Amino acid sequence: MRFNTPGRLPRKVDVGPARRMIGKLAQTVVTVLGIVALAVSGVAALAFPAQAAGPTVVSLTFDDGNADQMTAAQIMNNYGLDGTFYITSGVISTPNYLTVANLQSLAANGHEIAGHTVTHPDLVTLPADEATRQVCNDRVNLTNWGFAVTSFAYPFASSNATTEGTVKNCGYNSARGLGDIQTRFSCAGCALAETIPPANAYNTAAPDQVDNNWSLADLQRSVTQAESVGGWIQLTFHHIAASSADPLNVTPTVFQQFAAWLKARPATTTVKTVDQVIGGTVKPAVSGPAVPPQPTSGNLVKNPSLETLVGGVPQCWQEGGYGTNSRTFTTVSPGRTGSVAERLVVTGYVNGDAKFLPSLDLGGCSPTATPGHTYQLGAWYKSTANTQFALYYRTGVGSWVYWTSSPWFGPATTFQKASWTTPALPSGASGISFGLNLFSNGTLTTDDYEMTDTASSPPPPPPPPAGTNLVQNASLETAGAGSTPQCWQTAGFGSNTASFSTVSTARTGTKAERLVVSNYSSGDAKLLPTLDAGSCAPAAAAGRTYSLRAWYTSTTVTQFAVYYRNSAGTWVYWTSSPWFAAAGSYTQATFTTPALPAGATAISFGLNLFRNGTLVTDDYAMYDTIGAPSL
Ligand SMILES: [Zn+2]
Repeated sequence: MRFNTPGRLPRKVDVGPARRMIGKLAQTVVTVLGIVALAVSGVAALAFPAQAAGPTVVSLTFDDGNADQMTAAQIMNNYGLDGTFYITSGVISTPNYLTVANLQSLAANGHEIAGHTVTHPDLVTLPADEATRQVCNDRVNLTNWGFAVTSFAYPFASSNATTEGTVKNCGYNSARGLGDIQTRFSCAGCALAETIPPANAYNTAAPDQVDNNWSLADLQRSVTQAESVGGWIQLTFHHIAASSADPLNVTPTVFQQFAAWLKARPATTTVKTVDQVIGGTVKPAVSGPAVPPQPTSGNLVKNPSLETLVGGVPQCWQEGGYGTNSRTFTTVSPGRTGSVAERLVVTGYVNGDAKFLPSLDLGGCSPTATPGHTYQLGAWYKSTANTQFALYYRTGVGSWVYWTSSPWFGPATTFQKASWTTPALPSGASGISFGLNLFSNGTLTTDDYEMTDTASSPPPPPPPPAGTNLVQNASLETAGAGSTPQCWQTAGFGSNTASFSTVSTARTGTKAERLVVSNYSSGDAKLLPTLDAGSCAPAAAAGRTYSLRAWYTSTTVTQFAVYYRNSAGTWVYWTSSPWFAAAGSYTQATFTTPALPAGATAISFGLNLFRNGTLVTDDYAMYDTIGAPSL
């Protein structure tokens, strides 16, 4: 699976992952028709090879606006060849992409600037109005930058009769597909060239995109086999770099050799832009439909429980990620609620992240948001590793940029709720997308997302009834990652060797936690409720006092070490209890805290060892002192 990252946005290429097969289903029909066409032209080629060969036109096309395509432009300029650049306008002038000045330089040198949507969605999966915004508003953006825009290419080569009509109505004269012309890699038995004019100008046939399996001979063969029948061959490039992690790459050396060879072909073979092949006038730019008024209160996430599927994928959601890692997304059943949740598996992690998030679109699916407002985010998850919210916002031209991330939420074997409040949305932004990510190897299952404007949010839920134990998984019975119970983590500081394990010598149930400290010279070690942003750590209110309790056996003295989460969401050390004596059988440690400082929202605490010894703990509790059960 391949993604690209303008400032951490998902990478898009033109043949998508397996889940994009919805787009490919529509293509199957085209391929079948292509085989019929081949049967006719193939017979003709066999019977009259010399006579069948006619003029041949080669178009060199470049998708997605990758910055390294300027290298190809320079080579083409040297040989007087003009290319067609299909531009995703939403990423222009972001890192690793062409700038508006680059595009103007290309046009000044005779290259064609063409359309490829604003944010590179799979158009077939979108509601009609959002698909129209993607196609039309991209052409408006490019027109506003000063270009005459007549040619379009489908992201992921995904199209059907509806999207063809959309492209035509946005004022385009043609649209390119992929994978309908024979190469040694794909489409065996397909036609060797597109006809001029094409049978369908809004789904012109082209070979699969050029990748790093293509040699100079493969590029040459695509031209010579087209010459054998005459017609049009469109070659699709993504990256032109000496080396690239992206397989959709050819080296400048190969590209330069191909350009030199192409320039020296007989006069019956010419290189033209797509616009030069298709012809026609430049039609007026047409804006897509405005986004209808969106709700501003309640849950702003569409399809929040992921229950509405299109082609097996939750509608209004997409896969995302960046960096070097292998990510697999699947819908799983049942959900936390309903029948659908989303599972993400990351393997081979080196860097970056992966997540599932509301479609990075122009407003049809992504939650609408208002500059200056803050938003309460929520999602339920199970995970074998730490996760966090990764947030993006939409700018004025419709591009999406990375915004911020929440603190981490710890692993969980049963569904836990992650909650976080955003900073104020920057000025000029008009939408938010967010998802829980994995930034290590692991498995993450998510469901039941929510985003509410804090200005319109209902008041926070009332505090739990007096006498409620605020510690989650208090008896440590639900296992978490490794030897750590769910909603608990290990912690410590200084110079000592701490070893944690789950043991069956429990006070209640079947699990307790054992800590062994050796080689002690400084600091401490302890088990604590996870120091997170809200799914596990016990919630607490400023000004209140709390009764902390835990049962233990220990070969040496122990004490409660106590932390709180401040108004910025950071965990800070607060205080410690007096010492409790060594105990050969389970003994209850108890401590009443001072009043919780202003701004604090949660407490974490644990019994520690601050010398060599063995400590076993179980049955933790934390009560507001008002209504706490008596000891
Ligand atoms: Zn593309």
